[in-house]
Amino acid sequence: MAQSFTNFKDADSQLLASLYGKADLNFVSGKGSYLEDASGKRYLDFVSGIAVNALGHCHPSIQKAIAEQAEKFMHISNLYPNKPQIDFAEKLLAASGFDKAFFCNSGTEANEGAIKFARKYFNRKGLIEKQRIVTFVNSFHGRTFAALSATGQPALREGFGPMPGEFEHVVWNDTNALCKAVNESTCAIMLEPLAAEGGVMTISEEMVKTINELREKFNCLVIADEVQTGVGRLGTFLGSSKYGLNVDIVSLAKAVGGGLPLGVVLMRSHVAEMLKPGDHGTTFGGNPLACAAGLAVVNEVLSSGFLESVLERSEELKAGLAKLAEKYSFLGNVHGDGLLLGIETEKPVAELIASARENGLLVHRAGANVLRLLPPLNVSKEEVKEALSILDKSCSLVS
Ligand SMILES: *Cc1c(COP(=O)(O)O)cnc(C)c1O
Repeated sequence: MAQSFTNFKDADSQLLASLYGKADLNFVSGKGSYLEDASGKRYLDFVSGIAVNALGHCHPSIQKAIAEQAEKFMHISNLYPNKPQIDFAEKLLAASGFDKAFFCNSGTEANEGAIKFARKYFNRKGLIEKQRIVTFVNSFHGRTFAALSATGQPALREGFGPMPGEFEHVVWNDTNALCKAVNESTCAIMLEPLAAEGGVMTISEEMVKTINELREKFNCLVIADEVQTGVGRLGTFLGSSKYGLNVDIVSLAKAVGGGLPLGVVLMRSHVAEMLKPGDHGTTFGGNPLACAAGLAVVNEVLSSGFLESVLERSEELKAGLAKLAEKYSFLGNVHGDGLLLGIETEKPVAELIASARENGLLVHRAGANVLRLLPPLNVSKEEVKEALSILDKSCSLVS
């Protein structure tokens, strides 16, 4: 720590641009589902670096993969093919059923790529009028300009000047509004299979059916932003396939790099065939260390029984949350699927988060009034129980 500061929170706010509301904590190490701070206090981590640490902290297979690749090379650019990218792409395509992969560095970048590929696809086909992208109110697709334009939260766009055009936002699960918005000039319908940041909102069967029909009727693409839902979070490798969405392009990030920055766009061959060298690119995209770490994660997620246990832990956690909602009248409906769960609260969600933290549990928020739980995907039955008991205590302290 810089000598002039007495704690990390002060140092952080003096030295880093104040863009986040940070808690006053100084974590020094993590193992599995736990983080430890400088005082030796342990925290059960149900934030997982915002759905990044799918295997918890310091998973040995990720550590090994990174160490081994670090002995070989850490960066060589996208001018040359390399084994970490090829091995990882092969695994991702086999797991997802998609045909081609593009590697970048983050979620917002994966969405920028997805949007560019969708527009280029129709442009190359000579259908230059097909540029409109329909997305959803309260969606979250990232902070760079096109991804922000796609994001259905006007407050996040405020003060940043003109946004890329031809984006339209429709109310989530409003099939009538979607039918009105989609037409011959629609390039793509872009959606999170489960709207995470916007309040952990699941998609209705009716909506899935409508999206699939509109895709056929108007010959538009469907882009699934699986930055948060992908790589097993919902108990299937992709959330879109779980819900039966017919998808042309998928964006992945968060968990896909095993804790290192990595984004991926998966696409069907009809999309890939319309792309040419020079259309898009990135210096760091598909960094060999990140791809090696990502391969280790995906191998674990696809290992026998792993996704089944995600669904089992999900049921336990959902049932436990529902019990808490019976006990505390300020708690409301339980939302979500897999290990992307939320519970409505009438008490300020920040208070509940702070109380849980005091009691050794890290949780996050979604939307205005939803407490969001994102445990590691390999969380144990005992850890789920522990989290529920800490939440119970935390609720009793705020009520
Ligand atoms: C986190 C997130 C993003 C943005 O990812 P970054 O890596 O922060 O750019 C985009 N879409 C969804 C659904 C996300 O959860």
